[in-house]
Amino acid sequence: RTVYVNGAYVPENEAKISVFDRGFLFADAVYEVTCVLDGKLVDFDGHIARLRRSLAELKMTLSVTDEELLAAHRELVKLNAITEGLIYLQVSRGEADRDFLFPAEGTPATLVMFTQEKALVKSALADKGQKIMTADDIRWRRCDIKTVQLLYASLLKNEAKANGVDDVWMVLDGQVTEGSSNNAYIVTADGTIVTRPISNDILAGITRASLMRCAEEHQIKIEERPFTVDEAKAAKEAFTTSATGMVVPVIEIDGVTLGDGKPGPVAKRLREIFIQFSRDAAI
Ligand code: PLP
Repeated sequence: RTVYVNGAYVPENEAKISVFDRGFLFADAVYEVTCVLDGKLVDFDGHIARLRRSLAELKMTLSVTDEELLAAHRELVKLNAITEGLIYLQVSRGEADRDFLFPAEGTPATLVMFTQEKALVKSALADKGQKIMTADDIRWRRCDIKTVQLLYASLLKNEAKANGVDDVWMVLDGQVTEGSSNNAYIVTADGTIVTRPISNDILAGITRASLMRCAEEHQIKIEERPFTVDEAKAAKEAFTTSATGMVVPVIEIDGVTLGDGKPGPVAKRLREIFIQFSRDAAI
């Protein structure tokens, strides 16, 4: 694979980052994952807008323009001949002697990008539906910033696997915040989609925003309000959204089967709609 490191395209085994990089020492870094469908970028503008927001919230500066980022994404797609998969982008506060205080102004950020080839449209998990367990949301309360502090999410995914389920929904004050790496939704008896409103407690998913547009276009009602685990267990259907998963139905929560235990019609339809929307809008 060819990867991108601070403006250079290099073979992955020649790419180098300092051991003093703050991304490595302090998880002082933010990231984005943009999907590639048919060799094109899905919702690139949304991901870059969120990256800029994450950077601003952490007072990080990146002297690379949006146009340059777009060109780099396209170059990596081309160099690695990706038709379906993703591009991972990470910006850290750069290299400096280890200190909790930020480095001197002007210290250049570290920007790395790489591709991963991956089937997105064809998904065994989406076909089968995912089983979910719940766990306390003990993350810091700035989940709106897409930082690389993913250790808790990683621990939870491993716990899910050990318990024979696929993923974890996190719960704060009795209400579901989001999945370990996705946004969470339930479908009520009258077919309304319910999802937690945007706040510091969740990441504002780019897929979430697109899904809301898709739902509106197809006259599917979406209500933004918190919901409890009990409400989710009693729901007709549930699903998650993320850039790489797109829309993935949920068939079980904490051992309770939803509906008939198969992916529900609303989630399945939304997945189809979302895939078509993404193909049409990709650049
Ligand atoms: N919530 C969390 C915690 C995530 O890590 C992610 C994606 O990685 C999402 C939600 C979904 O965001 P997006 O749709 O932009 O991929």
